[in-house]
Amino acid sequence: MLVLLDRDGVINEDRTDFVKSPDELVFIPNALEAIAALNAARHYVVIVTNQSCIGRGLITEETLTSIHNKLRTELRRQNGKIDQIFFAPDTPWEATENRKPGAGMIRSALSQFRTAPEHAVMIGDSLRDLQAAQKAGCHRILVQTGKGLKTQKDGFDPEILPITVAKDLSEATRFILDGRFKP
Ligand SMILES: [Mg+2]
Repeated sequence: MLVLLDRDGVINEDRTDFVKSPDELVFIPNALEAIAALNAARHYVVIVTNQSCIGRGLITEETLTSIHNKLRTELRRQNGKIDQIFFAPDTPWEATENRKPGAGMIRSALSQFRTAPEHAVMIGDSLRDLQAAQKAGCHRILVQTGKGLKTQKDGFDPEILPITVAKDLSEATRFILDGRFKP
């Protein structure tokens, strides 16, 4: 499968003031190990992340690269890797279809990895992750880390169901490895 990961609140702790440096990238327990397990089972793993902090002028693309270099380095230590990182620098007030809940990044990933939407699953902690996945026709997992518990409590419109709820990326990974999303 193609596993599409939101970043903040799924792999690393979410920050209301954005992750602005490698030091502010703090991993959620067992998240890197979960990615390595997906790699070992030969799933593609990509990140699709909104990074309006670039559009807002809070960080540059070079800083984002240095943050992602830390992610890749720490992941390598667990024998894991990310196959590709897609990010949307758009601000909410000048958003293109790439910024979630737009489906642009997911559609790019599906096309680049030549994957049909029913063979792809999005894992996120925000409603917009699930909405973007629904637009693209992918499976959807909500994790309870990051904003996930609040997202779950706020409830979902019927059109974005079904949604699988997992405690964290580690549990979401177990669901995928158990074959739950095989069409
Ligand atoms: Mg998030």
